[in-house]
Amino acid sequence: MPMSSVNPANGSVLNVFETWDRPRIDKALSQAERVAPAWRGLALAQKADLMRQAAHVLRHRRDHFASMITQEMGKLLRESRGEIDRCATVCDYYADHAAEFLADEVVPEVEGDARVVFQPLGTILAVMPWNFPFWQVFRFAAPTLLAGNTALLKHASNVPRCALAVEEIFRDAGFPAGVFQTLMIPSDAVSDVIRDPRVHGVTLTGSEPAGRAVAAVAGETLKPSVLELGGSDPFIVLDDADLDRAVEQAVVSRYQNAGQSCIAAKRFILLPGAAEGFMERFKAAVKALKPGDPTREDTSLAPMARMDLRDELHQQVQDSIAEGAVPVLGCEPLQGKGAWYAPSILDRVVPGTRAYQEELFGPVASILRAKDDADAVRIANDTRFGLGGSVWTRDPERGAAVARQLACGSTFVNSMVKSDPRLPFGGVKDSGYGRELARAGILAFVNTKTLTLR
Ligand code: NAP
Repeated sequence: MPMSSVNPANGSVLNVFETWDRPRIDKALSQAERVAPAWRGLALAQKADLMRQAAHVLRHRRDHFASMITQEMGKLLRESRGEIDRCATVCDYYADHAAEFLADEVVPEVEGDARVVFQPLGTILAVMPWNFPFWQVFRFAAPTLLAGNTALLKHASNVPRCALAVEEIFRDAGFPAGVFQTLMIPSDAVSDVIRDPRVHGVTLTGSEPAGRAVAAVAGETLKPSVLELGGSDPFIVLDDADLDRAVEQAVVSRYQNAGQSCIAAKRFILLPGAAEGFMERFKAAVKALKPGDPTREDTSLAPMARMDLRDELHQQVQDSIAEGAVPVLGCEPLQGKGAWYAPSILDRVVPGTRAYQEELFGPVASILRAKDDADAVRIANDTRFGLGGSVWTRDPERGAAVARQLACGSTFVNSMVKSDPRLPFGGVKDSGYGRELARAGILAFVNTKTLTLR
């Protein structure tokens, strides 16, 4: 089955790539195995220099990579440039901090010299999604390679050009051949790669079904895994919130990347004292969003990444309306050749509707009403997801009290949920397990080994 690169803004086919057969996959796995000892043995300072060089390649060819992202999955060009910048930042961050994160930990309570050392596991497979086709890969690759592992990438089938470009960045930065390789394989070839003895761990960022499939094989073969899955993050507006600021961030969080972000605010939970003021401002701001050519600076809403994803979203919206939710704005596809969906708001989203239970991965905000802080927490946690959540209030203590009760991996008071190289990132419940970024991210695929000397 070939992999097609299709511009979702207009449906034009950019490239078609052949997928690999078994001997080609085997060759890549052998190459990873061959280069692993030399890579593991290379001094960390030299590995860090190579990672800084990768940051340089990204910055130097920023416009080229950014326009590749926009062409292949539709993101606004300015957001694609921002994505490339973040990738360079995460390379520099781990180049600067890897030595400190991986330093031996001496355990003074134990007699003699007792310490904990952190050693690479081997070759790690990353199964990645298309929504941040560079960032998702770099936030895995920078720490994993600096920990001394080699890496294999199986990228989403709709972003093959980005997949090959990431491999090229590491090659151009001077990484030895085989340290980072892109495998041009479909998802049904993933289990065999995980089962292969030359692979020692797997990470997946993507949907819940994909996560379950990969985790099952990792469990069966006893290989460590990290899962970064879907989310339906609450955005809780308390009655004393600064509504102008809350709405400004609500629009960015929900509609950037055409709403296709795991940590987008998806459920807006409004307290009685805030609901009317929030809705008035929010409706006006969402109505002002301008869908259009993603390369233009004045466009503020991108197309979705694929037609089938757009159609699936519309089905969820239609079913939710049939189940009682109230369409306030949009809630329909836009005319034109590409995967366009109107900036949309669904109000009165109640239990039993698909919008209440499922992740809406597109530009549709769900509005829910709560009686008070405790009710807002109850509703926020009434989901099988647990990725992030934000709380809006002028009272930081009240905000922190609500945030502490949210069952999720990242909470923010008075700012939208973001990933930041300095902060651990990941979820609980059906949003997955394990952490990326910060020190936790570099320890995800290491052997934490005890070493005592007497
Ligand atoms: P997806 O369909 O699950 O695809 C993600 C990756 O998994 C792709 O490379 C895909 O390959 C592969 N895959 C799919 N089914 C598989 C299977 N049964 N076995 C092995 N691999 C499989 O997800 P998506 O539509 O690309 O991404 C959207 C989802 O990702 C949303 O739910 C979003 O919330 C989540 N996400 C989470 C995070 C996070 O950090 N938590 C970040 C971004 C996105 P093919 O393309 O070849 O099918």
